[in-house]
Amino acid sequence: MLQERGELLYGSERADIAAFLRFSWPFELPVVEPIDLNGQPSLIVWVNIDAGALAVSLKDDPADVLTYIADAEHRWRARGTRRMICSCGSDVHEVSVGYQLDEAGKNAWIVTGTRCPDCGLLASPVDWNIERGLVA
Ligand SMILES: [Zn+2]
Repeated sequence: MLQERGELLYGSERADIAAFLRFSWPFELPVVEPIDLNGQPSLIVWVNIDAGALAVSLKDDPADVLTYIADAEHRWRARGTRRMICSCGSDVHEVSVGYQLDEAGKNAWIVTGTRCPDCGLLASPVDWNIERGLVA
């Protein structure tokens, strides 16, 4: 369930990320997919706002072992990339990815959502337009 505190929204479970994205995004998101790595939902999140890209890694992995979200890999740049740290100090987040479809039913826009497992803070760190032909 989404809870509002000040201007921020919090969630009590990972499924709240989907509710948050559908509440925040002005277009329909028919699919919102939770991201796990090796069955782990609490991930380090790397964001490059300028490149419009997001990647995740396991907390115990070296920082250069990244799993890119959707088509983010070909745009990825080390410059401008930041590791997400919650205002409560947590360095891991749960991540879900929403897919907005175009009229033909193809992925048109990627919307990322995160929830801090410690304080519940919900965020949508970056979204981007899918480049045609790269994602089936
Ligand atoms: Zn937090």
